[in-house]
Amino acid sequence: MNRRTEIMRRIFARVRLEPCEALGTPCWLWQGPRSGSGYKGHEAPKKGRGHGYGRMSLDGQTVAVHIVMWVCEHGYLPGKKQLDHLCPNRHCCNPAHLDPVSHLTNQKRRAARQAQALAVAQLSPPA
Ligand SMILES: [Zn+2]
Repeated sequence: MNRRTEIMRRIFARVRLEPCEALGTPCWLWQGPRSGSGYKGHEAPKKGRGHGYGRMSLDGQTVAVHIVMWVCEHGYLPGKKQLDHLCPNRHCCNPAHLDPVSHLTNQKRRAARQAQALAVAQLSPPA
């Protein structure tokens, strides 16, 4: 088994598939540890930047699972590109749900999503 296959098998062993209506292909939800202070997979995700991304150990280094998966699929991530999640799950590592974009594009998209979420929240009557 080559290294790439071995890494992908390690990831798939801890992934749970969940249908994603928006994208049509399932989310690959990482069940292992996630980024954020002391945050484990079974706890509610924390909000904020840098929180909630899948983390794994590779050669003693802690790495982001979605980036590892992207590199396994595409070979490399172009310099200065960030992986934007097209689905709402930060711990999803389906390469089809990840879009390599510039930092600026990523920031603009994040701001647009936050504005949209706020608008939806204001439209929805409290339960
Ligand atoms: Zn997804």
